[in-house]
Amino acid sequence: MAGQATESAIDQFEYILSVKVVVCKQHQYGLRDLKRHLLEHYGFSRELRDAVMERHAGLDIVRPEDVSLPTERVEQFDCLQEP
Ligand SMILES: [Zn+2]
Repeated sequence: MAGQATESAIDQFEYILSVKVVVCKQHQYGLRDLKRHLLEHYGFSRELRDAVMERHAGLDIVRPEDVSLPTERVEQFDCLQEP
């Protein structure tokens, strides 16, 4: 059952299909390891973490360093906002 907290937690992350990377909107960078990022940077409950992981399960995710993408182009992602 997805409550509002779950939805907002999931909404923190955006999967960029064109580069196959999950981006954290709050920290504004591509995540190498979503689960680890959740553990290290968010005080989510296990239930919330599982919900986020589940939402991104099965996606074809590559590590950001494997993506040949100039850093200045990151600004073009719609999900990233000016600080
Ligand atoms: Zn983050």
